[in-house]
Amino acid sequence: MDILLMGPPGAGKGTQGAILAERLGLPKFATGDLLRDAVKRGTPLGLQAKSVMEAGHLVSDDIILGVVREELGRAQARRGVVFDGVVRTIPQAEGVAKILADLGRKMDAVLFFDVTDDAILDRLEKRRQIDGRADDDPAAVKVRLKAYREQTAPVLAWYEQRGGVIHIPAVGTVEDIADRVREALKRR
Ligand code: ADP
Repeated sequence: MDILLMGPPGAGKGTQGAILAERLGLPKFATGDLLRDAVKRGTPLGLQAKSVMEAGHLVSDDIILGVVREELGRAQARRGVVFDGVVRTIPQAEGVAKILADLGRKMDAVLFFDVTDDAILDRLEKRRQIDGRADDDPAAVKVRLKAYREQTAPVLAWYEQRGGVIHIPAVGTVEDIADRVREALKRR
């Protein structure tokens, strides 16, 4: 089963994705984590992505689709993947659909984590104090939210037209939200 998690920065995709992946016994694949790791290790991918990411901009579609193709080629990914924040533009949605189709698969469910802007700003500021992520500083957060609204939010309509999107109210405790995800996937 292939499941895509969408939502603005700070919506809790990473936290819920880890819970869901564990429950389903699938690998979780987060482009943000993969890119941050590449930056830390100073690989060619990391060198390419570093300044773009730190400023809060989106990394190019070509880079992302290359990473997706590689990830889906791994043996662990053959039964499906929990995609965490992997699709952020329409060309990425199209590219991922093509890569999955070549494997005889499709995105089986798309979950949208719905939170207010106030909650997002609050969560990202807390995360900055704990993790010290460069792109959680206020200037980069502004750029990320703009990228989200202009490039990623339209992707929801793309999926709405092709099988639908499950909306998860993403305010509450981690357990409450995990329960909503479980129930919503059961009902589909
Ligand atoms: P957030 O959910 O807060 O945006 P992530 O850790 O998922 O944080 O992503 C951090 C950064 O990694 C993004 O701001 C962007 O620069 C880059 N990135 C991650 N996934 C993608 C993607 N699918 N397309 C383009 N850039 C991406």
